[in-house]
Amino acid sequence: MISNFDWNVGRIQDTLETLGLANNTILVVSSDHGDFLGSHYGTLEAFSGKSVIYAESLDVPFILCYPQMVAPVVVNDVFTSVDIMLTLLGLCGLPIPESVTPEEYAQFLESLFAAWSHDGYGTVSVRLFDSITNALYNGLPGSCVLEVACARSLVVEYNGDVYPCDFYVTEEQLLGNVHTHTYQELMVAPARVRLEREKGQLPEACVRCSYVALCYGGCPKYRRINAALGGDGLFYFCPAYKALFERWCRWPASSLPR
Ligand code: SF4
Ligand code: SF4
Repeated sequence: MISNFDWNVGRIQDTLETLGLANNTILVVSSDHGDFLGSHYGTLEAFSGKSVIYAESLDVPFILCYPQMVAPVVVNDVFTSVDIMLTLLGLCGLPIPESVTPEEYAQFLESLFAAWSHDGYGTVSVRLFDSITNALYNGLPGSCVLEVACARSLVVEYNGDVYPCDFYVTEEQLLGNVHTHTYQELMVAPARVRLEREKGQLPEACVRCSYVALCYGGCPKYRRINAALGGDGLFYFCPAYKALFERWCRWPASSLPR
């Protein structure tokens, strides 16, 4: 897998050289998170994907190549995906906003979808697009935001404490501990069941939405954030997702995933 990854990054570098773009392109190589891919208890749902804080899910490499402004250096500081946008805006000399609005996110998704549907489908994996494809074709999106219910995977901390979602690692949301609780006990813990039900308590606008069977109201945490900001209590990024779903429907049938 690593050889394949190296080979593909090399192809991108070669293409940039060929196109004469290598000198004014910032090349970033990274990932949202690692996956277990069979390590440890990889066959169990609770220990698959990224949900356990082990090296395989955390130690994601981040490589940024922009020789014009960044000298070669190895940095061992803790770094996360939200830092990437700020780093890139800084390198481009652009102002750094406090947050990303749904409208800005919609514009980003629109351009990303345009590029992906034109020549990336089948060869380039974009997690949200993969999730929509999966949801449409087998009903299993693989991304909790598009699932019918929350907390189907669990988060296990270094000491064995278990939580329903990595957005809810708080004392009130503690489900139990892998040393003292069975998987079945964790799955029926009140905090997990509460979060699972919350996803299904859809705002009225979602009930009437044509895309409800695709996104099930999005992420409840972002409904709360929207409400706390004085909004309508819909999933904060609803306008961006809805625009993407509409765009997806206009995609020529010949290009739809098979
Ligand atoms: S697209 Fe928006 S309105 Fe429609 S179901 Fe999703 S969150 Fe609700
Ligand atoms: S609250 Fe949001 S992030 Fe957490 S499981 Fe539900 S949809 Fe996923």
